[in-house]
Amino acid sequence: MEKRQQSWHSMLNDEVLETTSTSLEGLSTEEAAKRLEMHGRNCLPLNIGRAWYVRLWSHINNMLIWIMLVSSIIAALLGHEVDAIVILAVIIVNTIIGYVQEGKAEKELQSIRNIVAPRASVRRNGKRFTVDAEEIVPGDLIVLEAGDRVPADLRLVHAKSLRIQEAALTGESVPVEKSTDTVEEKSPLAEQSCMAFSGTFVTNGQGTGVAIATGTSTELGRINTMLANVETLKTPLLQKMNKLAKQLTFMILAVAVLLFGAAYFLRGYDIADAFMIVVGFAVAVVPEGLPAVMTITLAIGVYRMAKRQAIIRYLPAVETLGSISVICSDKTGTLTRNEMMVQEIVTTAGKFTVTGTGYEPSGDFQQNEQTIHIKNEVTIQDLCRAALLCNDASLNHTATGWQVVGDPMEGALVVLALKAGFESALLKIQFPYKDGIPFDAKYRFMATLHHDPQNDKKLLFLKGAPEQVIAMCNTENHNKGEQPINTQHWLQYLEALAARGQRVLALATKTFDINKNNLEFDDTKNGFTLLGLVGMIDPPRTEAIEAVRHCHTAGIRVVMITGDHAITAKAIAQQLGISRDPKVLSGQEVDSMDDEMLRKAAKEITVFARTSPEHKLRLVRALQADANVIAMTGDGVNDAPALKQADVGVAMGNKGTEVAKEASEVVLADDNFASITVAVQEGRTVYDNIRKVIAWTLPTNVGEVLAIIVAVMFALPLPITPVQTLWVNMVTSVALGLVLAFEPTEPGTMQRPPRAKEEPIISLFMLWRIIFVSILFMLSAFGMFYYAIARNMPVEVGHTLVVNVIVVLEIFYLFSVRYVYGTSLTLVGVLGTLPVLLGVICITLAQVAVTYIPFFNYVFGTRPLQFLDGIMVIGTGVLLLLIIEVEKKAFRLLRSFILNSSRLVALKELYMRSNKRSS
Ligand code: ATP
Repeated sequence: MEKRQQSWHSMLNDEVLETTSTSLEGLSTEEAAKRLEMHGRNCLPLNIGRAWYVRLWSHINNMLIWIMLVSSIIAALLGHEVDAIVILAVIIVNTIIGYVQEGKAEKELQSIRNIVAPRASVRRNGKRFTVDAEEIVPGDLIVLEAGDRVPADLRLVHAKSLRIQEAALTGESVPVEKSTDTVEEKSPLAEQSCMAFSGTFVTNGQGTGVAIATGTSTELGRINTMLANVETLKTPLLQKMNKLAKQLTFMILAVAVLLFGAAYFLRGYDIADAFMIVVGFAVAVVPEGLPAVMTITLAIGVYRMAKRQAIIRYLPAVETLGSISVICSDKTGTLTRNEMMVQEIVTTAGKFTVTGTGYEPSGDFQQNEQTIHIKNEVTIQDLCRAALLCNDASLNHTATGWQVVGDPMEGALVVLALKAGFESALLKIQFPYKDGIPFDAKYRFMATLHHDPQNDKKLLFLKGAPEQVIAMCNTENHNKGEQPINTQHWLQYLEALAARGQRVLALATKTFDINKNNLEFDDTKNGFTLLGLVGMIDPPRTEAIEAVRHCHTAGIRVVMITGDHAITAKAIAQQLGISRDPKVLSGQEVDSMDDEMLRKAAKEITVFARTSPEHKLRLVRALQADANVIAMTGDGVNDAPALKQADVGVAMGNKGTEVAKEASEVVLADDNFASITVAVQEGRTVYDNIRKVIAWTLPTNVGEVLAIIVAVMFALPLPITPVQTLWVNMVTSVALGLVLAFEPTEPGTMQRPPRAKEEPIISLFMLWRIIFVSILFMLSAFGMFYYAIARNMPVEVGHTLVVNVIVVLEIFYLFSVRYVYGTSLTLVGVLGTLPVLLGVICITLAQVAVTYIPFFNYVFGTRPLQFLDGIMVIGTGVLLLLIIEVEKKAFRLLRSFILNSSRLVALKELYMRSNKRSS
């Protein structure tokens, strides 16, 4: 096995099999397990990206940290050693929290992504299995299909129209053709056409290869690049906040200089006190805890989505999800259950109903409600035989019942054939497979060539979209032989089945002489005999019906894009409630439109039928041209460009190809449309929570700063010392602010229209709220300090009162901010949530400690308070809550007044117009 890598491509197939001690049947399960132990898992060590010291430095090298550091030095120089040490300690703690937090969040994100780890198709014990790509061992026989990610380095032993995109390894952007022919030993990697390398993608065709290297022994492992690098935790929002912080820094510096000048020159503070005012200001203005809390809020959002089956691959998607205005979804499997059952078949002998449930292969064929014996019904026998032979699926009986391996639709055809009395294994021996053309959504059919020894012929079977297949036929199959086809008659049947929401397939056959062994695309052009139609039910998912309704109330348009027939698609769209009378556009019609026409049409169309993946890209662009924010689902290899173009690409975790997953921001672990809606809801919640965190944090800072400025204006000592400010900003702010990261979805979140993409995080209303509350904070803090001074209390007691009042205000404001618009004075609002209560208890205990424990009194310069003063502090908190409630009520009234008057204006206009018309 330890043969030099370069030699595999110059070896013959048999030599490869012999050297790797395997066969075309694959390894045995036991041997695979042994080799797994010997060679280890097929994965590369996680590339964490930046070195630890680079990451640590990025947390230290921050303007705000530098400001604090300078403040600490000034404090030390002025003889305030305790202050200097506390500031320094806060900087260190802050940096460590940020660093550890980022590392943890990165790891968690990675582990969430691993839920959708790549899978691979492997042949073991002569049977095909899908396994975790990490379980591949050298000697495994890997089956490749379009859309697969090559899981290990392979020496190909079978290749049919196989093309592989090797850009990741060779930089060559055009997919390369693969074959099984040996190449010269000295050939460079890019010319080793009989090899498939780990990490590259199959774009076309089929192939089988023997794994010759796994994990770090692969070419990819050698160059040591991880394709899916660990993502840094920077989202557009966090980047915007960082930029804002940088811009604010200069403003902060300017205000600090002004403040120093005002204190020293205008108000006559001595120079040391003036400097300490600047230190106090700098410490007050920086929201130290905010970045950590925002990152945690995002991380919690990702975790919540993962729990509900939506796996976020790129963090920025969490934000974008909240502003989605159109969801373009596939039909089969996403909106429907993808549990198919043949319900009706049509042959020249008439229409038959097939009974039974699920994939259980027992049921009858009925005509006009009478069970019929189909042994002598040649047309049905021929149809079912084709359905079983032109088929890649198989049926297994497991402990949980009958299960399909492969495409559920093909599974339903296997069940149909078994109901008709065929035996799968026997039929495949009687009619050995010779060659085939795999299904492709571009041409919507598949074909297989079989040997028919009894009649000394080759039989070609074709199944696919009825319009396509019917057009390729010139005869139809009758009990007594072939007759010219009556196309009109078949199209009528097709429409009737599709109108009932059935997915319809047509089957056809063609004979060749015995020497035909290879199938070319041209062989499928025409000359077929139509065997009949098959109608399958694929019921809508119940939860999708509900989810579509939620989308509509949330102002999100749902558009169905399907490869299925227009009439079937329309019927299913109606059943799902996408629209009562859906407007349908076919792929062909899309082709005939230019971009501008498509943009106009896309405004109204809710169903796009018989589309190929290429149409999706044009559709996304057309919808985006109208300022929509699009989520687009996809699973095939050709869906990748549209998934990349969409604002949020959503790939299917189960039926999706690796290419589609790689191109998407979100992967649905359960392939279910309802999970997209859940992700949108969580996206909105995360955004709301980040907003709440900001709206809650900033008034504390602004309030403190205003209190300092007012103190300078009245030539009073600082109402709060720098160390106390840090206590408030760092400790209480983080512990309480963090609570908001856990906030559940606010009622009404999915009843609002989507947020505009460019909407600033702090709306005008939010800005008003922050200023309003900041002023209330300032008035309370300053009022409390003035009260202490007026009563000749020691300045330390005044400081303690101020610290306590700010923390109490923070607690009461927390209850208020949990409901931005609605009232907080409800039972649910007052009781809060478990994190809220825990946060409040922790902070209260910490605050009691700071106020009453001598050690903390020493560090923070605080003094114990009297009971009545404590009551006054709490009373101020209650007052704040009530004032904000009054403000909320006033705004609600104002809003409904504006809404009503605009409605009135509209009504008046309507009335005037109708008056004009009637006169
Ligand atoms: P959706 O795009 O919503 O998943 P779909 O599965 O019908 O819908 P495609 O997979 O593009 O879309 O299939 C398009 C059509 O091709 C189907 O309606 C069917 O007529 C035909 N078809 C699909 N799978 C096969 C297959 N395995 N063999 C033959 N024909 C197929």
